[in-house]
Amino acid sequence: MAFELTAEHLAIRRAVEEFGREEIRPVAAEHDAQHSYPVELVQQAADLDLVAPHVPAEYGGAEMDTLATTIVTEELWRADPGIGSAIGSRGFGSTMLLHFGDEWMKERWLPRLVEGEVACASAISEPAHGSNVAGMETIAERDGDQYIINGRKMWITNANIADIMVVMAKTKPADGHRGISAFLVPTEIDGLATEPIENKLGIRASDLGEVILEDVRVPADHLIGDENRGFYQLMEFFANGRVSVAAQAVGVAQASLDAATEYAREREQFGRPIEEFQAVSHMLADMATAVEAARSLTYRAATAIEAGHDERATRLASMAKLFASERAVEVADDAIQVHGGAGYVSDHPVERYYRDARITKIYEGTSEIQRSIIADHLD
Ligand SMILES: Cc1cc2nc3c(=O)[nH]c(=O)nc-3n(C[C@H](O)[C@H](O)[C@H](O)COP(=O)(O)OP(=O)(O)OC[C@H]3O[C@@H](n4cnc5c(N)ncnc54)[C@H](O)[C@@H]3O)c2cc1C
Repeated sequence: MAFELTAEHLAIRRAVEEFGREEIRPVAAEHDAQHSYPVELVQQAADLDLVAPHVPAEYGGAEMDTLATTIVTEELWRADPGIGSAIGSRGFGSTMLLHFGDEWMKERWLPRLVEGEVACASAISEPAHGSNVAGMETIAERDGDQYIINGRKMWITNANIADIMVVMAKTKPADGHRGISAFLVPTEIDGLATEPIENKLGIRASDLGEVILEDVRVPADHLIGDENRGFYQLMEFFANGRVSVAAQAVGVAQASLDAATEYAREREQFGRPIEEFQAVSHMLADMATAVEAARSLTYRAATAIEAGHDERATRLASMAKLFASERAVEVADDAIQVHGGAGYVSDHPVERYYRDARITKIYEGTSEIQRSIIADHLD
């Protein structure tokens, strides 16, 4: 399948690139060093229609297609992965709301989400169950016209800043993945507490925490979609999440390549710029080739998703996520090599990119899980 960027896609790329260059890059190192959440930049991004840009116009969104949202993610991460993550994750869970939520949920929350007024989180992983989503132990018990939710969620992006969460819980614990349901949970509710996780390797401008749910009572109409269908609802959009992480990986890889190329042109050894040494220029050539290949696969996967969520889209999304994330870590590593000793300290952004890139091999399904999915979907 071919992909083609329209004039609109190119205009979106230019707009995000400019926002990244002018507003994000200058403050990126500071946010990383201070682990500070970029409140103002999130608002600026929302004003530019970059928060949850897939949301349809009827709920105030920019209604971008999958390729356009992929480009937005890529350029935000190219500007800075930590701040890109903070902006890009505001809409976590919104896809579930959009496709399976009742009309009142969408009308109440989606416009405020795209305006930057509220943040959402998606709470799936648990301390004892990450890759094995079906093993989750959080339980939602029906009690009259309410559900009572009990459990712990781990590694939740936006845990401490979210206004609402999409919480996955077992409504029929004996039935494994056939007994999971999705719930809309406002975070100010009694019984919900969060614990910040502040010792992350990278993407430090992004919020992360643990969520503790103790006798949290939500009205029965806060069930999203059908009871016991939550796992299947989640599965329908796994491919989107994976392409999004692939785009993050392409963005941080491109940023690493940009920084390495610039440094190689300026740094002189033995009386000439180091880019004139074939060992260095070949390293840059390999990095550029890896970035371009990862981008192509990612755009192909985005195009396949746009055409319909079929077997091919699932396979391509996992391939893109696997390939782009592994290349991103290698390219960021090479960018440090090009910088020599200067790459090992925080004076240059490549030290940060190396730490930031690493997450793309872990979340939304690890590399090992992606390989299993690809193997299961071979023709
Ligand atoms: C910064 C960050 C943000 C995150 N954000 C969110 C979020 O917003 N919401 C959310 O719900 N979760 C989130 N996560 C959780 C993330 O999705 C999980 O960490 C990831 O799915 C892996 O689960 P785990 O950490 O429990 O590792 P485990 O599942 O324990 O895996 C450990 C190792 O075993 C391997 N492994 C496990 N099972 C298999 C298998 N069947 N075959 C081969 N190898 C296997 C894994 O590949 C890995 O190498 C986030 C994590 C991080 C670090």
